[in-house]
Amino acid sequence: MDKIDIKSLNEAELLGLMNDLNQPKFRAAQLFKWLQQGIEDFDEMTNIPKSLRDVLKEKCYIANVSIVQKFVSKIDGTVKYVYELFDGERIESVVMKYEHGYTVCISTQVGCRMGCSFCASGLDGLFRDLTPSEMLAQITKAQRDNDIRISNVVMMGMGEPLDNFNNSVKFLQLVSSDNGINIGLRHISLSTSGVVSKIKELKDYNFPITLSISLHAPNDEIRSSMMKVNKKWGVDELLSACREYQAVTTRRISFEYALIEGVNDSDACADELAKKLRGIMCHVNLIPANPVKENSFKKPDMNRIIHFKERLIKKGINATVRRTLGADIDASCGQLRRKVKEGFCSENLQ
Ligand code: SAH
Ligand code: SF4
Repeated sequence: MDKIDIKSLNEAELLGLMNDLNQPKFRAAQLFKWLQQGIEDFDEMTNIPKSLRDVLKEKCYIANVSIVQKFVSKIDGTVKYVYELFDGERIESVVMKYEHGYTVCISTQVGCRMGCSFCASGLDGLFRDLTPSEMLAQITKAQRDNDIRISNVVMMGMGEPLDNFNNSVKFLQLVSSDNGINIGLRHISLSTSGVVSKIKELKDYNFPITLSISLHAPNDEIRSSMMKVNKKWGVDELLSACREYQAVTTRRISFEYALIEGVNDSDACADELAKKLRGIMCHVNLIPANPVKENSFKKPDMNRIIHFKERLIKKGINATVRRTLGADIDASCGQLRRKVKEGFCSENLQ
């Protein structure tokens, strides 16, 4: 019999489990609190009788992540973790310090099947989905290891969250629970390459999260050359799903745009982008494309990037250039991988 992933259960489901085990109802709330706080062993649950802990050990497991490597940036203190999962698979997470607190960038899958040409996470395809508990564990482990409270989460690590839809939704519900880690949905961003069918489904949950769309190009010709997903849902279809999404949630949408020299950084691209985004309450995040060893693309020089930004602003589009964090430890967008790159500068290892 497969063991139950107990940390992925919400309070109602734990109540059902307690019922099946002939336990009093209040145990469900106690268990939920312990599990969501990030305890790693049933024996840490000091107010749960040993007899019940023993039954739980037999029937359930607690999904933990263990730190196999930790890199600390000498430039800005950004921390990158390589975590190992119960089956030996590895994922990466990044903790960044901002003025308003700590933000963690979590992975949602081991690998990714979307195959965007500029991204390291998808180079070897998808290995498996992460469970809600494995997404939560990335946060609680980082909190415990640094003795900090994380205030913001971005689902922008390895994997496509909307390709692991049910687990991502459950994660959002658990992480924002009052008795759980309790990070408000307004402090969470979910980034997607543009899985339109799932954006439509997500809309119905009306979560006040920030939806972040990895757009990267203003038209199908360029976008399809960078992102396979665009062959299924083109730019216009994606933007129309964004409009529908915004009509329901009334939340500003964030568009990610990784600038690659000679590919999507021309004035014509900026103009076309501004035109396409008209009428959407949005913010464009310009990201100088991060180097990935296996690819040969280059980021434009800073003048070009600033020029692109100014051109968007002049046309009424809110745009900023994203600060690069953890540049010395390959911790930026699209640089997280399943396997630690050979020759990686491990002197950063603490
Ligand atoms: N799969 C989701 C979330 C993870 S990727 C998505 O694609 O949105 C997180 C962000 O990193 C995305 O915006 C992605 O397009 C971007 N990214 C990937 N590779 C990059 C690179 N080499 N340089 C800059 N950004 C990159
Ligand atoms: Fe997957 Fe996002 Fe990387 Fe594309 S950019 S391969 S969707 S992780």
